[in-house]
Amino acid sequence: MINKPIYFDHAATTPVDKRVFEKMAPYYTEIFGNPNSQHVFGRNAVCAVDEARDTIAKIIGAKPSEIYFTSGGTEADNWALRGVCGAFKDKGNHVIISPIEHAAMITTAKELAKDGFKVDFMKVDEEGFVDLEHLKSIVTEKTIFVGCMLANNEVGTIEPIKEIAEIAHSVNAVCFTDAVQAAGVLDINVKELGVDLMSMSSHKIYGPKGVGALYIRNGLRLKSIITGGHQERTKRGGTTNVPAIVGFSEAFKIANAELEKNAVYVSNLRDHFIKRILEEVPFVKLNGPKDGAKRLPANADFSFKFIEGESILFSLDLAGISVSSGSACSSGSLEPSHVLLSLGVPEGLAHGSIRFSFGKHNTMEQVDYAVNVIKQSVERLREMSPLFKLNQGEIKNV
Ligand SMILES: *Cc1c(COP(=O)(O)O)cnc(C)c1O
Repeated sequence: MINKPIYFDHAATTPVDKRVFEKMAPYYTEIFGNPNSQHVFGRNAVCAVDEARDTIAKIIGAKPSEIYFTSGGTEADNWALRGVCGAFKDKGNHVIISPIEHAAMITTAKELAKDGFKVDFMKVDEEGFVDLEHLKSIVTEKTIFVGCMLANNEVGTIEPIKEIAEIAHSVNAVCFTDAVQAAGVLDINVKELGVDLMSMSSHKIYGPKGVGALYIRNGLRLKSIITGGHQERTKRGGTTNVPAIVGFSEAFKIANAELEKNAVYVSNLRDHFIKRILEEVPFVKLNGPKDGAKRLPANADFSFKFIEGESILFSLDLAGISVSSGSACSSGSLEPSHVLLSLGVPEGLAHGSIRFSFGKHNTMEQVDYAVNVIKQSVERLREMSPLFKLNQGEIKNV
């Protein structure tokens, strides 16, 4: 029997690893100096931040001078897009992003469209993969920004970023990737990917919230969005969040050292979960890639036909299982997920979707318990669903 709540929402955030927490503590109470200060307290803080920058740069194959700390993935995404739009107006006003980007990108692009930028969306197939031929057909000499996430936070699709970067560069556009879900989970090298900008965040990889980074290829022009003091080599104002940066780099270091081990561990949980759900729950659709190797190792996303994602979420929550419904991401809005709609999932099915994202502290016992609870919840909710009654004659699965 399971008596503690089970957390299957690691794509939303993760607990801070205890080793990370311990590493951060002295930077709140003892090594608390402002790195901008001209004394020993300041210098000690500078050392810590330099070391963190070196660590992160090394992991992603960048130079330390190419890493800029931010307040998280959202700011890094904003900076990339707004920064390019601000710096490359002379070249053009055309922006291309994938339709399955995080809200930090989609909302920002919509804002820029109001300011006169022309925003186009890449096409994705039913598993979420970008259609490269379509992308080739929409880039022009006026394209300044081509942005696509490395891995999708909802359905786990791992995108062909290297190919996307080549297409972007064929028209001298800047290529950006949002690696918030991928950094620390997949082996990443920015030079091999060929991207000019890449965003990362700490709290999705067992680090503290409110800190992230933007990789900016040396030599790339980028307008600042947070102006202030001379922090981050004058590109991003604001007193440096030293403990958070130390925590982020420690979390990244641990994630990278344990990358293979964690990937094997969580994908094993995921594969067992997916197999059981598909076999034991009728009228269910797995969203995203069928091929586990092309999907984030921790991700499983299902649509349960005839019922609402919210009802499943509440029913699982009552049983102590914490998951996410596609629509919960957009802050309680009842709109179905833009990601699932872009994949061509019918609106009815998109409404009944749930994302499960596993973590290194989850166990197979928890997974099996969850499957049993899901079977019961789904059956009970369907018994109450008028839609299900109407369709009971239907024998075909979705
Ligand atoms: C969580 C997430 C973000 C936002 O990062 P924060 O650090 O929470 O601001 C951006 N992109 C993706 C893909 C994410 O999963």
